[in-house]
Amino acid sequence: MRYAYIADNTSLSLHFHTSRFTDFCMRKIDGKSVAAKVLERVGKDVSELQAKGITPGLAVVLVGEDPASKVYVGSKVRKCEELGIYSRKISLPVETTEAELRAVIAELNADSQISGILVQSPLPGDLRKIEDDIVEDIDPQKDVDGFHPINVAKLVMGDKTGFVPCTPAGCIELLKSEGVELSGKRAVVVGRSMIVGKPLASLLLNESCTVTIAHSRTADLAAVCREADLLLVGVGVPELVKKDAVKRGAYVIDVGINRVDDPSKKKGYRLVGDVAFDDAFSEAEAITPVPGGVGPMTIAMLMQNTVKAAKLQNG
Ligand code: NDP
Repeated sequence: MRYAYIADNTSLSLHFHTSRFTDFCMRKIDGKSVAAKVLERVGKDVSELQAKGITPGLAVVLVGEDPASKVYVGSKVRKCEELGIYSRKISLPVETTEAELRAVIAELNADSQISGILVQSPLPGDLRKIEDDIVEDIDPQKDVDGFHPINVAKLVMGDKTGFVPCTPAGCIELLKSEGVELSGKRAVVVGRSMIVGKPLASLLLNESCTVTIAHSRTADLAAVCREADLLLVGVGVPELVKKDAVKRGAYVIDVGINRVDDPSKKKGYRLVGDVAFDDAFSEAEAITPVPGGVGPMTIAMLMQNTVKAAKLQNG
């Protein structure tokens, strides 16, 4: 009889598997506890900087009234407060023009209290079309989201003075927390967006993995995924990746956050990942749940980037 050890902040249980014997241990990777460790490190760094008279500062620019964006911005500001990072929330009306938004960015670029600038995406209305231009306006040294072309280039070049997008950086941190030796591993990244798939593939390559990027045109996705020692999925399709796509003993990182209708829940929906968790769990060595896997890492890496920005700007 085999058992899988599941531990997180709220539960500790043993799952028994009688169907077959395997020589690996199936684990749920607890993003909350890994994020807490990152934040503890960041908190220490903040104290050290403050002892030198430096307070890291994060400016978060929110345009419009999108409820989800408001929630994200609120949690970023709260996390800054918890850590002793100065935060400034700039809420602009939905009718803000391109010129007005650019003027705000220019002011923040010049403001020495601000180490990092984040413009909450998606921007409303016509501003959405120029999101890339707005990102390019941000001083690359303050681009804590890591989306500026200079930082994209630095990531590809393996230049550590750049900023790495928070979610992909969090995925690597989760793998490292598992003690996985990344060098030489076969990694498959499903998804090729600029905020998840592409930076993640670059990070894995920088760690000397052999990397394949799969996407919506990939033929026989399951077969490609089955080659992976490390399978990282960010597509936005609920439970796309099933057991048949997971090599036995693989590490699975599920970036997806999808709402699916569920009348049994108070809110009428539940969150699921891009990987069918229960299905893949029995094959994987370790796998992130949704929620509670990659999600908590994103904000932790943002805080880490903000402190890094303050350090770089202060020599
Ligand atoms: P995008 O829509 O920008 O990109 C999705 C990618 O998935 C594309 O490259 C697309 O391929 C690929 N894809 C779509 N359908 C399939 C399919 N059937 N088979 C294979 N590949 C497919 O999404 P994001 O990268 O922004 O986000 C991906 C997921 O990650 C979402 O669920 C999002 O909510 C989540 N997310 C979570 C974060 C967190 O903090 N945990 C942060 C950011 C995102 P193609 O390029 O060919 O169209």
